[in-house]
Amino acid sequence: MTSHHDYNELREGVRSVVSQFDSRYWQEVDEARAFPEKFVNALTDAGWLSALIPEEYGGSNLSLTEASVIMEEINRAGGNSGACHGQMYVMGCVVRHGSKAQKEALLPKIASGELRMQSMAVTEPTTGSDTTQLKTVAVRQGDHYVVNGQKVWTSRLQHSDYMLLLARTTPLAEVKKKSEGLSVFLVDLREEVGKTITVKPIRNMVNHETNEIFIDNLRIPVENRIGEEGLGLKYILDGLNAERILIAAECIGDGYWFVDRATQYAKDRVVFGRAIAMNQGIQFPIAKAHINVEAASLMRYEAARLFDAGLPCGAQANMSKLLAADASWEAANVCLQTHGGFGFAAEYDIERKFRETRLYQVAPISTNLILSYVGEHVLGMPKSY
Ligand SMILES: Cc1cc2nc3c(=O)[nH]c(=O)nc-3n(C[C@H](O)[C@H](O)[C@H](O)COP(=O)(O)OP(=O)(O)OC[C@H]3O[C@@H](n4cnc5c(N)ncnc54)[C@H](O)[C@@H]3O)c2cc1C
Repeated sequence: MTSHHDYNELREGVRSVVSQFDSRYWQEVDEARAFPEKFVNALTDAGWLSALIPEEYGGSNLSLTEASVIMEEINRAGGNSGACHGQMYVMGCVVRHGSKAQKEALLPKIASGELRMQSMAVTEPTTGSDTTQLKTVAVRQGDHYVVNGQKVWTSRLQHSDYMLLLARTTPLAEVKKKSEGLSVFLVDLREEVGKTITVKPIRNMVNHETNEIFIDNLRIPVENRIGEEGLGLKYILDGLNAERILIAAECIGDGYWFVDRATQYAKDRVVFGRAIAMNQGIQFPIAKAHINVEAASLMRYEAARLFDAGLPCGAQANMSKLLAADASWEAANVCLQTHGGFGFAAEYDIERKFRETRLYQVAPISTNLILSYVGEHVLGMPKSY
């Protein structure tokens, strides 16, 4: 059975990069609400973010299991993969569905770090999780599409050269299934930001560069459409299992970090004349949190194993995301409680990691939608929305 003791060489390789970014680095970028540029560059230069790019395009073509270990190690070392996970998987849509020309133009440059494609604009302010209702439209005019609309929570856009954009190309009233008629496009942000794309950053609970964007008569050449017109949602959904598993791994990394910190502090902190870890009221919640992180990690390995074998893994990918997000959040709470007042002090990093890991109950998919996926697709209960 796979355990967190495996992939040691890979783990060591990632650790040798992430260990250069200490607690002070993360506190400084957090306080400045700055993008962790040096950290993303170091991971890119070391090749870790091109793990999922095929070798013929300059990547290392690792398995998803291995990619998940990379994400886990980043978060386990106290870092935040949120700044860089886009670079690892947004391009997956191009790998799976892009034309040869698109792959040749983009993938080698993404692998080398010359181009950043970390941004994906799906969510809209008025429709949220109800993706098929999105309002952004792309109307074909000769050899271009003209796009108008609005997106929200478009992350890492200001640190990307390219963005994936999901827009409706056939009106909802004219499609048989509401999931049809959406298309996915490559947008060259360098040409458009400040002209046809207006960006409004959203200050949020975590140090996460994310934005509201307004799209006004953006012209996209037809050759920048990915795959066939109308199948965009399918292409985006195809990538989601990989995304769920990688996010689960980030949560697992967080979970281990919180458990390690809580354990160490409980052993060191003396109150009423003895280490607080001697109290079962302190020790048991940490043990429970650890058990849940380990269990979530096994589900992650199972989901990744199925994915790597090319087998259906939707149920396992979703379940691993839910278990891991719950486990990391529980571990975060326990860690904060174990530290008492000191948990609130920024210099301990706990309040930052606590905020960061909370996001995964909501994004990239909220817990309720995973539960409804399992209720409907695994257990065969009626669709609830
Ligand atoms: C920091 C951050 C970064 C993000 N980055 C990106 C990004 O890069 N690209 C992108 O496209 N999106 C991004 N998102 C958006 C994210 O994917 C959405 O926030 C998420 O999918 C939930 O959608 P929503 O916020 O519109 O919530 P809503 O859909 O409005 O839902 C609100 C609440 O109601 C619940 N709910 C809704 N319908 C049901 C139902 N039928 N049954 C039970 N409960 C229900 C939801 O679970 C949720 O808890 C990001 C979000 C955040 C906060």
